[in-house]
Amino acid sequence: MLVSISTGAVRHSVETKLEEIHFIEKEFGGLVDGVEICIMEPEEFLSLQLDEKAVSFLKSLPYNSVHAPLKGMGYGKNEKAEKIFAKMREINKKVGLHHATFHPNHVHNFRALKTLGLGVCIENLSNGKKRRGWQKPNEFKKFFEKNPFFGFCFDVNHGMANGIEPKKFVSTLGEKITCIHLNATESAGHASHNLVIDSSRKAQQKILPVFGLKKPVIIEPDLEKEKVHLIKKEIEFARKMFKS
Ligand SMILES: [Zn+2]
Repeated sequence: MLVSISTGAVRHSVETKLEEIHFIEKEFGGLVDGVEICIMEPEEFLSLQLDEKAVSFLKSLPYNSVHAPLKGMGYGKNEKAEKIFAKMREINKKVGLHHATFHPNHVHNFRALKTLGLGVCIENLSNGKKRRGWQKPNEFKKFFEKNPFFGFCFDVNHGMANGIEPKKFVSTLGEKITCIHLNATESAGHASHNLVIDSSRKAQQKILPVFGLKKPVIIEPDLEKEKVHLIKKEIEFARKMFKS
């Protein structure tokens, strides 16, 4: 089974976005099947220049992806979006990308996403008024019935932040789930982006059903530098759960 890691997971451990990729190679290189390049600032994403080292590492992995920048973005037929799409295509050409993931509240025109030339996943969102309509399993079920082109990236802790147990997403969306953002939230109200192995037994029990899908997981916690080494344990945990 495929286990990938988001560059966001190591963002507090190094200075630059390029260093995040180098850091993942150094610390977890032999252990993962992919990297998700996650940069929230559009300008920072556009200025990312992969060096030879990063290209050769990423090229060796079968399941890379990219998370679309969010800050100030409204994806549709506009110049800003076109620039991001072009950058995604450039990265795809260099290292190979399985898909790009978008937060649907930052999409103005879903048809425009079909022109990207890459697989596109739509992600469920955490709690908050501005994210309404993109939080519950049934909302996505309806969306995908009308828009079968898109894949679904199930973010575990976004769902839990809305008080929705992962098993509800698994039973409602099932095979429609393309990949999983693996992270945990203890209680509804705030998306905490914790590691699963660093969560309570109760939270862990709630998350276990996602491994039954045997879909790729992208480890996506928000970690202080002191805890980054635990990612290794998270990878081992995911692999063990896939086997059981
Ligand atoms: Zn996510």
